[in-house]
Amino acid sequence: PHLSFHGRRALVTGAGKGIGRAVAVALSRAGARVTALSRTAADLESLARECPGIEPLCLDLADWDATEAAVGAAGPFELLVNNAAVAVLQPFLEVTRAAFDRCLDVNLRAVLHVSQIVARQMITQGTPGAIVNVSSQASQRALRDHAVYCSTKSALDMLSKVMAMELGPYKIRVNTVNPTVVMTDMGRINWSDPQKSAAMINRIPLGKFAEVDDVVNSILFLLSDKSAMTTGSSLMVDGGFLVS
Ligand code: NDP
Repeated sequence: PHLSFHGRRALVTGAGKGIGRAVAVALSRAGARVTALSRTAADLESLARECPGIEPLCLDLADWDATEAAVGAAGPFELLVNNAAVAVLQPFLEVTRAAFDRCLDVNLRAVLHVSQIVARQMITQGTPGAIVNVSSQASQRALRDHAVYCSTKSALDMLSKVMAMELGPYKIRVNTVNPTVVMTDMGRINWSDPQKSAAMINRIPLGKFAEVDDVVNSILFLLSDKSAMTTGSSLMVDGGFLVS
């Protein structure tokens, strides 16, 4: 049986491409009223054509003030998927301040900020809510050239736990999904080298990368009432990478 989100209002960040886009489409098809937030207007235009009814919200999440205004005006929501992130890979000794700041601003600070805005509205409305933060296997394993990305995802896991603790009394659940490599634009840029990807696949017990749908299904489960007693947890979508 398919999950139903009929009448629920959902905000998905990073919804222009990849996993976020697929989550927005899946939620919309499952009956939710979806606001799709992303940075590139053309992506949101093509998404609205693909899935009429999705509300576009064009915004750079690194901009705190613009986020405050735009997300505040778009709500309230019962469902939030913090999916937007950037991965700038640099060897540790070559990490630049600009890459560090960009990655922290988008991958961590924006999650905190968007969640604050949305959770405050949930509390004012008195409605229960569910938040899913898209983390990574990189939150729990060191990956070469991923010093900043790994750090943001590790911090995101802990941020999610503290949010779960503090928002639980308001019936707001907070969980993460932690995928292995997915061949989206981000995945392709970082894992197209066949030697590098073969070495990673060799460490994954199921012997393959994740599909976008694997991640979407786990996100929808954690947004749904089927996971009503689950909060503060991280759901691995990693083919067993973390136990290998
Ligand atoms: P993509 O790069 O394919 O898509 C990311 C989306 O987020 C794009 O639409 C992008 O817009 C948007 N975005 C990025 N920065 C901002 C910003 N500052 N403001 C608004 N929107 C922004 O990534 P994926 O779909 O692969 O990744 C989605 C999530 O999954 C991320 O959190 C990522 O860390 C995580 N993940 C991905 C894995 C992978 O291998 N692909 C593995 C594990 C986790 P634009 O292109 O216009 O900047």
